[in-house]
Parts: sequence; C-alpha cells; structure tokens
Amino acid sequence: MSSTSWVTSANHPECDFPLANLPYGVFRRAGSSSIGHIGVAIGDQILDLHACAEQGLLADLPHPLVAACRADLLNPLMALGPAAWSALRRCVTALLDAEKACRETQGHVAPHLVSMRDAQMQLPARIGDFTDFYASIHHATRVGRLFRPENPLLPNYKYVPIAYHGRASSIVLSGEPVRRPWGQIKSRVNGAEFSPAQSLDYELEVGVFIGPDNALGESIPIAEAEDHIFGLCLLNDWSARDIQSWEYQPLGPFLAKNFATTISPWIVPLEALEPFRVPAFERPPGDPAPLPYLTSPAPECAGIDLTLEVFLESRQMRQMGTAPALLSRSNLRDLYWTLAQMVAHHASNGCNLRPGDLLATGTISGENEGSEGCLLEKRCTGEPLCLPTGELRTFLEDGDQVIFRAWSRLPTGEKIGFGTCAGTVVEAASAP
Ligand code: CA
Repeated sequence: MSSTSWVTSANHPECDFPLANLPYGVFRRAGSSSIGHIGVAIGDQILDLHACAEQGLLADLPHPLVAACRADLLNPLMALGPAAWSALRRCVTALLDAEKACRETQGHVAPHLVSMRDAQMQLPARIGDFTDFYASIHHATRVGRLFRPENPLLPNYKYVPIAYHGRASSIVLSGEPVRRPWGQIKSRVNGAEFSPAQSLDYELEVGVFIGPDNALGESIPIAEAEDHIFGLCLLNDWSARDIQSWEYQPLGPFLAKNFATTISPWIVPLEALEPFRVPAFERPPGDPAPLPYLTSPAPECAGIDLTLEVFLESRQMRQMGTAPALLSRSNLRDLYWTLAQMVAHHASNGCNLRPGDLLATGTISGENEGSEGCLLEKRCTGEPLCLPTGELRTFLEDGDQVIFRAWSRLPTGEKIGFGTCAGTVVEAASAP
C-alpha cells in the first residue's frame, strides 16, 4: 500500500520526489542573500527544515539532530549517522503524509514549503575530499580494449577496487556551465602542444556522500560500511580524453579530470533505496572471490537496482526545440564492486573518511550496446553518434548539454528519482 502526501504534486506517478523518497539538499530562496537552508524535496516543493526547526515542528527530535537541521550545509547531519537519519526521516514523513498529518499540522507545515521554481539550489555539503572509483567491469573492459585489444583488463582489476584521488574544489552543481579546458596534448609535429581539449567527454556516475567518520588509522569493517553512507546523487566526471591519454601514465588522471565535476543537487538517502536491493554482481566462474575484508556478509542484497540514463541536447537541438536525445541506459546493479566494498576498501589502510567526503563509482556501463556510460566507449562501435538533427558526435561540442537522470520504481508505482544532473559545455577561455 503506497502512502500519499497532502503535497499533491508528490503523488503524480512521474514525479521524482514522492513521499517515499525525501532526498536532502541545500537551497536559498531565489534572490535572497540569506544563508543556505537544508531542505527536503517533496513533489515540486521543498520543505524548509531550517524553518521547521525554528518553528518547533521537529521538537520531538534530539537536540543535536534539530541543531543539524539548522546548519547551512549537510555536514553536521551527515556526521550523526543512520539512527539520527532514520528518526528525522520518520518525523518528516509524518509531517507530509496525507494520513498521518492532521489538518492542523498541515496548516503549520504549509508555510515552510518553497516552490522549487523559487529556490536556488547550492552545493549540499562542504566536500573535503573526492575519490573516483572504476567499479564497472564493462566500462573498464571496453576502455581497456581501445588501448590493449588482446588484454583489456589489467590483472589487479578483480582484486582491487581501483580509484584515484580527485579534486573537490572544482565540483559544481547541476546547471553550472562547464568550460572546455586547455591542456597538453600529444602532437605528431612537436611532440606535444598546448591547446583547448578536442576530445571532451562525460562519465555517467553515482556520487556517494560519506556520513560519520572513521578515526585516522582505523579501518571500516565491510559489515558497517553502509552506516558511513549518507546518500547518493548523480555525478558527471567530465573528462578530456586527449589530455588524459597523454598524461595518464604512470600516475593516472590529473588535469584531464579536475577542471570540473558536476553533481545533482538532491541526495537520496540509502533508506529510500532499500526496496531496490538486489544481489551483488555475480562474478563469473573462474573470477577470484573478494578478499575477506571485501566480502559482504549479505551479498544477496549488496547491490541496488537503479536505472541511469544519459541525454544530449546540442545547441541546434535547443534552437529547434528538439527534445534531448537518449544516448544510453545502464544500471547501478551491474557494477563489479558494491558501494560497501568501495567504502571498506578506501578505509582499509586506516585512511580516514570524513562527513561530506564524496566518493564516485566510476563510469556506470552495462554489457550491451546502448549502455555505454561515456562517449569514449561508444567509439568501440566505430560509427560517430548521429543526433536527431543529423549532427554527428565523436566527442562533445561547445553548446552541448549533457543530462543524467536516474530512478527506481516501487511495485506500487511511485518513482524514487534523482532529479537531473545537467551541464552545458562552453567554449574554452581565450588563448593564455
Ligand atoms: Ca570517472
């Protein structure tokens, strides 16, 4: 039996933010210069938790939790852990549920709803560190094949959840333009040259916001790893392939990746994704079993069934009013490594994760054609991509907008959606 909200826009079957979702974000009323407020998405509205706390609507909750709801970023709430998150979620559900909230309660809550149209979303947390994994074996295999056709997967792949340390300072919110970077590119004539990147790509990823920390020097057991995950968002790891191919050996990506990373504004709590638990990726016979510190105590529900989509809208499509074109569709459940394995591995050497740190899964690709999570993989098919306008794409052009969406659907019909993660490529800065 599904629950409905008295915020009626939340009950539409195509709405990303029904009562069963309740993702967190930070917003400001458009045009105001006030500090950011923590909000919860419900239908086409945002429930202002800061205002709810001020007005005593969260008074039944413990004081530190109420104080965290009045912060201007989500870090304090992230630090409190799963018991606090559940308590807040139950409280917010009760305020917004058509059955549970009486008329009087609805009257008290309604003034603290802000239309999404009147809100300016902000980065949800102070992101201390950003780490990007490489957890899709289909992505790793397809990309590996371009460079090493006879031996696409490196021998460590099935043992180690591979990652690199990214850059937090250049993480931007969905909607911010992304400037084409300059960089050093291999040149047949001069050895190398410095020019705007010509092979700009997106990478379809899920971002994982870390909750409570682990002390420096202490690891996180895999059985507890998900207690350190506050929630998930969409993430685009913009990548300049020509810069990357020249710089990536021997230490991995650097300037090819750190010029911009876009995230979606809403963080979907793991609790909202519980109904979509599925078994972890089934390793084919002959693959090594994960080492004990990476062995899940409950592999039958270590994965999450989440559909992910990439759309592209060129400048010409925008001018002609053509709808964004679907480029690919993949699923989070197809990752070789689970979210818990990534967290446990990251802390396995005693590296301390902190509230608001961001991990990303790496490009999420499926096995079949049409499920490639980046343009580089689409090159495996040999043909450039053809857009509805007849324009061809090998890599992104200036004016292209890349849009990610993700959702799971409950048996009762509601969609647990992630909203959108969008960014438009703008031309490179003038020559330095
Ligand atoms: Ca990546």
